[in-house]
Amino acid sequence: MDKPQKVEKIVQILEREIPKLDPPIHLMFKVQKNDPYKVLVCGILSARSKDEKTVPVCEKLFNKYPTAEDLLKAPLEEIEETLKGIGLYRQKARYLKEAIKKLVEEYGGKLPQTLEELTKFPGVGRKVANIILIHAFGKDTIAVDTHVHRIANLLGLVKTKKPEETERELKKIVPKRLWKKINYLLVGLGQTICKPQKPNCESCPIKEFCEFYKNLFKQLDKGKNQTDYKGKLTNK
Ligand code: SF4
Repeated sequence: MDKPQKVEKIVQILEREIPKLDPPIHLMFKVQKNDPYKVLVCGILSARSKDEKTVPVCEKLFNKYPTAEDLLKAPLEEIEETLKGIGLYRQKARYLKEAIKKLVEEYGGKLPQTLEELTKFPGVGRKVANIILIHAFGKDTIAVDTHVHRIANLLGLVKTKKPEETERELKKIVPKRLWKKINYLLVGLGQTICKPQKPNCESCPIKEFCEFYKNLFKQLDKGKNQTDYKGKLTNK
């Protein structure tokens, strides 16, 4: 089975299984509702913060400031107060303020639809820009966060060190019509079964396609190694 065929199988299985697991990423979808303003704000706030923590803060923020214009008028201190509860809240409040100013004043409230322009917004890196392209505009691209990067390597789909390399390599092997599904499916798996510290391989619906899983058992059969459950085998 070549890599594109393997990806097809993995996507097919995860599309069936992930919704049943109801991962925290579902909460994020509910709060941002494919609205470009909300997708932008959630993207900026989600940096180094789990969805479970980010979502309640996003909800609070959207209740206070339902539109970009409302947020633009809010004093920085008030935004900071609203964001308390997530990491780096002061820095994120500043990014939000600057990003919304740019959105309203330079783009008339309409987010641009290219990666190049989106990454010029404060607090928006390549991953968040790709998330915006997918969820606000339905574009075909792959958003690579730590879950996607880690799991794509564990599965043996790529052999990369950085998320940008993973995005580039995945785009070579994932059929384009599946690109925008990859983030949701692998983040959903990473939040529920393939957790960074302790992947629950026995319950994993795609273990038969996973290189890490296969290697784990080859090594354990030989009785020479243990796993530290951080995605690596360790010599005894
Ligand atoms: S088999 Fe284990 S390591 Fe592989 S994707 Fe599933 S949970 Fe992750």
